[in-house]
Amino acid sequence: MTIKFYNSLTNQKEEFTPIRPGEVGMYVCGMTVYDNCHLGHARAMMAFDILVRYFQYQDYKVNFVRNITDIDDKIIERAADNKEPIEDLTNRTISSMHEDFARLGLELPAAEPRATDHIAGMIEMISQLIEKGHAYHSEGGDVFFAVRTFAEYGKLSNKNIDDLNPGSRVAEDESKKDPLDFVLWKSTKPNEPSWDSPWGPGRPGWHIECSVMSFENLGQHFDIHGGGPDLLFPHHENEIAQSECASGHKFANYWLHSGLLKINGEKMSKSLGNFAMLKDLFKSYHPEVIRYYLISSHYRSSLNFDNESLDQARAALTRLYQALALSLDGVMERHQDSIEEFAHSMNDDLNTPEALSILFGLAKLVNNSASEKEQGMYVSTMKELSQVLGLLNETPEVFLQYGAGLSEEEISAQIQQRNEARNSKDFQKADQIRDDLAAQGILLDDSSKGTTWKKS
Ligand code: ZN
Repeated sequence: MTIKFYNSLTNQKEEFTPIRPGEVGMYVCGMTVYDNCHLGHARAMMAFDILVRYFQYQDYKVNFVRNITDIDDKIIERAADNKEPIEDLTNRTISSMHEDFARLGLELPAAEPRATDHIAGMIEMISQLIEKGHAYHSEGGDVFFAVRTFAEYGKLSNKNIDDLNPGSRVAEDESKKDPLDFVLWKSTKPNEPSWDSPWGPGRPGWHIECSVMSFENLGQHFDIHGGGPDLLFPHHENEIAQSECASGHKFANYWLHSGLLKINGEKMSKSLGNFAMLKDLFKSYHPEVIRYYLISSHYRSSLNFDNESLDQARAALTRLYQALALSLDGVMERHQDSIEEFAHSMNDDLNTPEALSILFGLAKLVNNSASEKEQGMYVSTMKELSQVLGLLNETPEVFLQYGAGLSEEEISAQIQQRNEARNSKDFQKADQIRDDLAAQGILLDDSSKGTTWKKS
């Protein structure tokens, strides 16, 4: 069985061949910790969570490293706005992130390095780059990477160095030798946090931290480097340039990027106020609903979040949980066809929508089978495969009750609407209302005396 991924470096699906058989070294760019996590963060993290889980399911030993950026302009600004020490802000944000990620069921990384714990390594790598002629200490006090000294610059983002337009960039530093050069070490302004270095007190640029933290945790050549779509350029392009100039050889073999998440068709942005913060979503939706929603699209596709997205996800996940309610213990047999189809889908660049359809196929088999033995086999296969996707971890009771906060009046009004739809023969709408209610833990029962309901 071979796993294929779309490699951003070669722009094609490639068979995964690990550097060491049976092992995977994987680095994912993590959070910059100045604010709580939103759905866009969850989307990128979920993509790599599924990858880790699938590798583990295929018996790989996974060395998964996800960093924390705990020093940068936004952090310094936010701490100043809040009138609090930087460490108070970053520690609080990290705790909040851990809480959100745990609720989403994200696998813990084997290492979670923080940038500020690796300053010595960054100074060392910058010194090497200067020695080798790839970086220089400018008159303004900053150290820059000289982009044109790396002939392969642009190989990840498919950009030709001569087409890059430095004129469009903000805050150009006059002391750069070339406008394309990027900062490795920033000399600090008064009242900014700083570390001593051969170039005076300062702090690292953003890109260098990931080169150093991946080297120190995975070695100078490892299997997979991943991150969100906005990181491909310039962050990952710059990481490659620094890392390959420092080591003299290839950095990561496979580059994986998750797709964009839009909200109501727009890019998430502060000015639009359309951030979907995870803590807000958890108030109304079980975290597995959010997980289901995120993996119901392929990780590289562009995903549009709107008001109905999570209701639809909840209704779908409810169907799986309802099949699970028939669970029979002690069944050892598995439905091999489904297991093979599942692996086939996941091996094809982690096709989770297709993998989910296999779970629904099993749910249907459960509901259509009259044999308890067969039902047990389908249910246990469903449970096993759903674990790979991080789903169906609750008992059906707990899941179906989550957020079932509809009042009796609201339920009666929904039943009334459904009756009207049925009277006008709009059965699609009637079924939709019934499914939506079921997704919220309200089951309808039609009899000659009318419709009654109960909590599932
Ligand atoms: Zn990074």
